[in-house]
Amino acid sequence: MKLNICCIPGDGIGPEIVKEAKKVLNKVAEKYGHEMNFTDILMGGASIDVHGVPLTDEAIATAKASDAVLMGSIGGDTNTSPWYKLEPSLRPEAGLLKIRKSLNLFANLRPAVLYPQLSGACPLKEEISAKGFDMLIMRELTGGLYFGERKTIEENGMLKAIDTLTYTEEEIRRIAIKGFEIARKRRQKVTSVDKANVLDSSRLWRKVVNEVAKDYPDVALEHMLVDNCAMQLVKDPAQFDVILTENMFGDILSDEASMVTGSIGMLSSASLNDSKFGLYEPSHGSAPDIAGKDIANPIATVLSAAMMLRFTFDLDEEATAIEKAVEAVLDKNYRTCDIMSAGCTQVGCSQMGDLLTAEI
Ligand code: NAD
Repeated sequence: MKLNICCIPGDGIGPEIVKEAKKVLNKVAEKYGHEMNFTDILMGGASIDVHGVPLTDEAIATAKASDAVLMGSIGGDTNTSPWYKLEPSLRPEAGLLKIRKSLNLFANLRPAVLYPQLSGACPLKEEISAKGFDMLIMRELTGGLYFGERKTIEENGMLKAIDTLTYTEEEIRRIAIKGFEIARKRRQKVTSVDKANVLDSSRLWRKVVNEVAKDYPDVALEHMLVDNCAMQLVKDPAQFDVILTENMFGDILSDEASMVTGSIGMLSSASLNDSKFGLYEPSHGSAPDIAGKDIANPIATVLSAAMMLRFTFDLDEEATAIEKAVEAVLDKNYRTCDIMSAGCTQVGCSQMGDLLTAEI
């Protein structure tokens, strides 16, 4: 297969971790007989330095012309970097919002996996962490409270703020379909999270999800209220496969789920549109404090590349090969500094990339 991948190395540790992900992908291409073409574009601070804006229209056109985008991370030290003296629309993060909007990326996927080898980093009690967990949070990204009409008015001498939470049937249906499709590639279970005991938008959410579920009889569906889900994530995270939810609930629950893994350098993510196209990136930021030192953990980016193979290119075997390589390297007790523990061998970013490549 011919894979045209647009890469955004970005800022901070971004170029270092993307380099290692490319190394692993090239090995996959060699082993499985694919042709990978990488085209780099500038985004964030790297683009500001060259073009004065965080993302040019030409860069967007390159991204659109590719099959998928693989990103490192963007941004600098928000206290000291001159990028943050610019007006908000010219700062690094504006590039991220612009690319998400231009590519119509409405579905955000964040896996939260507790590897048994790293269970010591999990802040939960051992009786819970010992079971491990492997869930994926599918969050609607372009609707709901964050995009509704908002205003602050004065009423009877008192300030009053109003935010509106709206969802159309269509917005719910397209993300629900993504959720069920992805559950089919996993353990065939969807937990749809809402607040249907209070909110109309949640009652519509539940109705549409039930309708979509009829087309996926092989996938088990359960509904859970968001407050209960927040508790279950720390009580029994192993029960979850795909958590399907709206924008604000997903924002909060995905951060909670990543925290219970305890290892930010291991967490991948993806944002998808209604075709197979996606933007794949680690959940962490550009870590300016460790940039240029060859000590960053590239695994979140490498696992994002595995998600890209699975969800954009339907290359499940190749994606699994990368995931198994990560487990094999952890089994051999190699660790980057962020996941280092007693008795293990500490390696840098490029060495971790070499070790992963050798396992493919
Ligand atoms: P961060 O995730 O970059 O770093 C938080 C801490 O985790 C730091 O101590 C860092 O060294 C460590 N860390 C993060 N990733 C690591 C890795 N792969 N290996 C080892 N250690 C790692 O968060 P921050 O410091 O709040 O943000 C730094 C910059 O990143 C900011 O400009 C922020 O806006 C940006 N950011 C970008 C994205 C993105 O590109 N999608 C996401 C979040 C933050």
